[in-house]
Amino acid sequence: MKSFSLSRNQLKLLAILAMVVDHTAWGFVEFMSPLGQAMHIFGRLTLPIMCFFIAEGYRHTSNLSKYIERMVTFAIISVLPFYLFFHEEYYFRQNIIFDLTLALLALCISDCKKIPALFRILGVVALLVVSALIGGWVIMPIIYVFVFYYKDTFKKKAFWFTFYTIVMEICLIILISLNQIYHFSKYNWTITERLYLLGFVLALIPLYFYNGQKGQCIISPRFDRYFFYVFYPLHFMVLYIIKWAQTATSQDVYIWAHVLALAVGIALFVYALRQPASRSQVGVCLFMISGVFYIFGFLMEITTPMVPGVFNATKLQYFAEIFVLISITYCIQELTHTKITGAIYAVEGIISVFTLYCLFTYEKNHLFYQGITINTTAGSFPRMEIIGYGPVFYLFVVYSLAVCILCIGIGVHSAISGGSLQKKRLRYLLLGMVSMWFSYLIKPLNLTNGYEIPALFIPFTAFFIVVALARYNYLDSISLNFSNAISKGQEGILIVDRNHKVLYANEFMHKLVGNFSRFEDAYHIPEIKEIFESAQHQLERNGHTYEIRIEPLIEQGHHTGDILWMIDLTKHYEAYNQVKKESTHDSLSGLHNRKWFEESVKACFNKNIDGAFLMIDLDHFKQVNDTYGHKIGDLAIKITARTIRECMTDIKDTTLYAGRLGGDEFCIFIEKEKDKEVLGAFATHMLNTFEEHLKENGYGGITSLSMGIALLDAASVPLSEKSFDEVYEKADEALYQAKKDGRKTYHFS
Ligand code: GH3
Ligand code: MG
Repeated sequence: MKSFSLSRNQLKLLAILAMVVDHTAWGFVEFMSPLGQAMHIFGRLTLPIMCFFIAEGYRHTSNLSKYIERMVTFAIISVLPFYLFFHEEYYFRQNIIFDLTLALLALCISDCKKIPALFRILGVVALLVVSALIGGWVIMPIIYVFVFYYKDTFKKKAFWFTFYTIVMEICLIILISLNQIYHFSKYNWTITERLYLLGFVLALIPLYFYNGQKGQCIISPRFDRYFFYVFYPLHFMVLYIIKWAQTATSQDVYIWAHVLALAVGIALFVYALRQPASRSQVGVCLFMISGVFYIFGFLMEITTPMVPGVFNATKLQYFAEIFVLISITYCIQELTHTKITGAIYAVEGIISVFTLYCLFTYEKNHLFYQGITINTTAGSFPRMEIIGYGPVFYLFVVYSLAVCILCIGIGVHSAISGGSLQKKRLRYLLLGMVSMWFSYLIKPLNLTNGYEIPALFIPFTAFFIVVALARYNYLDSISLNFSNAISKGQEGILIVDRNHKVLYANEFMHKLVGNFSRFEDAYHIPEIKEIFESAQHQLERNGHTYEIRIEPLIEQGHHTGDILWMIDLTKHYEAYNQVKKESTHDSLSGLHNRKWFEESVKACFNKNIDGAFLMIDLDHFKQVNDTYGHKIGDLAIKITARTIRECMTDIKDTTLYAGRLGGDEFCIFIEKEKDKEVLGAFATHMLNTFEEHLKENGYGGITSLSMGIALLDAASVPLSEKSFDEVYEKADEALYQAKKDGRKTYHFS
């Protein structure tokens, strides 16, 4: 085990550090100076490490085509930044991502067993030719990637890597020597100028410590995936800008800095707008708008050669600054959930109006400035110079300070009294405030041609506030928690506008009827359409029962849309069904109870349906209880119920009602059946079945059934509810007769 090791991310960071050092040296350090050489040799770490990870990436990628796609995309994106920085040195050579993409493609081709060997070789050769003609590193990346991929042990990789590096160096020495004689290349290098390339071999040291692990995320996996790609064109752009700024006039720098600030401001403004609507968002947007105006005013000031233009631009800046201060107050209020009284806004408003008045009229009353002139010789662009400040200027400075102190005070208080979330959020806000003052404090240092740097302060302040907003947009926590609760709720909720366009649907609704997007026509979802059109009240889905409720949304007397609720009533239905069952069933036998039986049979009689009424009673049941105990008695009751259920299926095409009426007494009503033969057979079958079941349970002969059967004929007497008591009595008499006949038999009344 190595006690020291490097992860993939650490190695990649080392590679880009080496790259930045190398490119910085190209841009700003004398090539053959000791520092320049040291930087370039250190810079040689980049290419081998990158090649190493192309081989690794190819081996481990889960999606090769996406990998290639990403490489190609960033190779293209990097073309312009690379040219901007290197166009003088390498006017037709391509950037390193292009080289690495070629190497990756070469690896794909050579490794594709489906392609015949000859074509594979041709493919790789073609890529080598392309690399030789326009690649930044002329075939070396392909060779390095192949070595890292095809050589299995680190020893072999290191050996072949060193071997090819030395071969390259020798080839270069030969070429340089020949060029000094025949002058076929525009690059008039000397041999010592190319020796630093041997620095490639140094990359073997960090690679030796590679532990095969991805290592800690830099920020997040998603960020990491793109960071190394994005960094490449980005660092060229930054270096290019620095290079350009060295030669540009300070006016150029100011203009471009402010154009960039404007772009950032507008981008942040759009970003803030795209956050879930909230009151803090309103504050941020206000701030962004005034900030953009401020920068705009500054741009105007430094680009207008005429005196009145400069004065007006100054006025525009103050105008914007006044709104910046008010919107910062509002931002702090909303982001910290602090109630700032209306009086403070009133004071802010009064001071703002007064300041604006004095500012726009200072030529007359000298309240804001006592006088100003334009200095056209101070630098590369005219500068407004203030001869003397008026009292309102000082008032405005005090006011600005007071607003900042107020906001910082509220922020600190909220951070101390609030939770950890609050603290994190406040850190961003305070950074924003600090960056604002930085822009003022830089002015007296005289580094900036006598100007503050709104280009810095607006985007910085805005950035921190926007981060605070974006990260914690649930700061409007009450409303957002409400909407969270609704979106996570166990009721489906859908809100549509008048034209049934979806305005909102919570997760549960999506779970019920599938996915659809905002502003989609809800009537395009067949189920929703049906619900709205049929005014259904219930919906069955996946074994659940939902109650449907639709309420119109009325705003100021106008029907603006509808809200649809789908409420899961399954549990309630289950409980209801349970209670219902218990109220109509006998728990011991599982048969219907007296109440249900009586009601059902009476309903038949009311419809004048006649038939046979059987009353069944267990024989000597008391004795069973006494001899064998109540448990066995209960068993006998269950067996009776089972017998009744089984025998009921014998009489097909007829409706039967059966129930336990109490104790050991059971009743059956058979609709329309009056045939004594059929009924006798039915009764006999029941007697036998009961006896068999008793035997099966090991209690054969301990009891038996007796039955009394009464027949009803609707043709002779019309039936009604009252017939129940009559027929019951008749059956009871018949039963009594059966008991008298010696039990275990049936008797017709
Ligand atoms: P007979 O042959 O004349 O019907 O005599 P019997 O002993 O069965 O008399 P009767 O029908 O009047 O007796 C009913 C007995 O049933 C009374 C009670 O002890 C018993 N019994 C009532 N309900 C239950 C019950 O739920 N479980 C048990 N184990 N016994 C019950
Ligand atoms: Mg009995």
